[in-house]
Amino acid sequence: MPTKYIFVTGGVVSSLGKGLASASIGCLLESRGLKVAMIKFDPYLNVDPGTMSPYQHGEVYVTDDGAETDLDLGHYARFTNARLSQLNNLTTGAIYNSVITKERRGDYLGKTVQVVPHITNEIKEGVLRLAKGVDVVIAEIGGTIGDIESLPFLEAIRQFKYDMGGEHIIYVHLTLVPYIAAAGELKTKPTQHSVKELMQIGIQPDILLCRTDRPLPKELKSKIALFCNVNEEAVITARDVESIYQVPVEFRKEGLDRIIINLLGLAKKGAKSDLREWDKLVLQLQNPKHTTTIAVVGKYVDLQDSYKSLNEALIHGGVANRAAVNFHWVEAEDIEKNGVEAYLSQADGILVPGGFGDRGIEGKIQAVRYARENNIPYFGICLGMHCATIEFARNVCGLTDANSAEFSKNSPHPVIDLLHTQKDVRNKGGTMRLGDYPCRLDKKSLAYKAYDKQSIGERHRHRYEFNNRYREDLSAKGLKLSGLSPDGNLVEIVELENHPWFVACQFHPEFKSNLRNPHPLFRDFIAASLKHGQGNN
Ligand code: GLN
Repeated sequence: MPTKYIFVTGGVVSSLGKGLASASIGCLLESRGLKVAMIKFDPYLNVDPGTMSPYQHGEVYVTDDGAETDLDLGHYARFTNARLSQLNNLTTGAIYNSVITKERRGDYLGKTVQVVPHITNEIKEGVLRLAKGVDVVIAEIGGTIGDIESLPFLEAIRQFKYDMGGEHIIYVHLTLVPYIAAAGELKTKPTQHSVKELMQIGIQPDILLCRTDRPLPKELKSKIALFCNVNEEAVITARDVESIYQVPVEFRKEGLDRIIINLLGLAKKGAKSDLREWDKLVLQLQNPKHTTTIAVVGKYVDLQDSYKSLNEALIHGGVANRAAVNFHWVEAEDIEKNGVEAYLSQADGILVPGGFGDRGIEGKIQAVRYARENNIPYFGICLGMHCATIEFARNVCGLTDANSAEFSKNSPHPVIDLLHTQKDVRNKGGTMRLGDYPCRLDKKSLAYKAYDKQSIGERHRHRYEFNNRYREDLSAKGLKLSGLSPDGNLVEIVELENHPWFVACQFHPEFKSNLRNPHPLFRDFIAASLKHGQGNN
């Protein structure tokens, strides 16, 4: 059976949840025993999102092979088993980079290099590269129809159908059907305009996912179907839901997966659908037995997309404990201004996530101190491990002015220092210590208790690390170095002795957590927080 292709585009406005819709389609196809591959195309010129501010872009999701990718890949990872690597997220910058490198090498000797066909061919190759051994490739085109930047991608996917033949390809378009309160009506015009624009490019959508805050009545679906030239049953209500994990469940109720397999000629191969495990987990998520309050002390807390995987990993950890997580997002600078008590006294657990730059650092360090001194479970991730180390050095070991070399060039005690492999690095793009690295755990540690094995692998994204010159001093006072790189050179996890649960890691465990497989550290952090909360009541 030849590989099939689904292209997902979005119209009207951004932020309708195209990534989640694509991930949910992947989830539903997998529930029918089909193997999927996922790719996200991003129409900006950065070669990858690694150099962008979280305010611009949200989280940077890191793959095992060390690619810095769009946060939608995190959704793919949480909803499907698709393999994700640097091949699964291509930006305009990456495409041009590749074409220009080929041009300089002489691959197109004698030719004029142009958007069509050279850029569009490169885009198509990006899709075709993923086809081997999978039933369906799902390709999501970032941006919104009408953007100048998306045009080469749309042209490429238009050509794709021309190249491959109609029966192997469908186009899914996500659009908005707003409810206009003044008129008391749902409005289809934005959808009609968006589809018209797609059709001008030569793309006729096969399925419309209509984002809306209420069910679409049948007449409205008929109207959209008629004006957009789409089968009525293929006009799908994509209703706002409380939890993102409900999206596949809602889509299935609308018959989306059945429609897709019929359109793609996969009705036989994907005949049986089994979403029971997912349904069960969603039900658990919706019916928690306990609640725990977790304070996340960060610096982009008004923009939770910056902490997307973290947010989800905490929810997974909650589900593993039948608990709802009550998020308390704390701006570290507010702690600096108003003191720690006002923000953390209600917390059952405190987490300091990853980050860059010195804004808010002192507030984060105060949060660590508060967790340490009050026996509140603490989970530090990357920068959160740096803060934990600095706090311990300053307040337990008496190393006044201990700091990270990232924040202070002349600290007398740089307990966190530049990785020696970073010393000669000049370019900023894609040059951090990135991707999956092995780590060995101390058998007598909270980390070992969580993972229940000694060798683990986790993903990294950093330039600074624990300074080995301080190993002895800090361990002598009770900082346990519970995870090291296999050669013993890098400290990957620190813990506190004489504390109920205090674990800080150099890596980002949130990238590997999902609902079906909650990450053990998040699971145990939530368990400890629940216990702390119960003790407090
Ligand atoms: N800024 C720190 C470093 O580069 C921490 C990075 C992170 O939290 N991902 O090492």
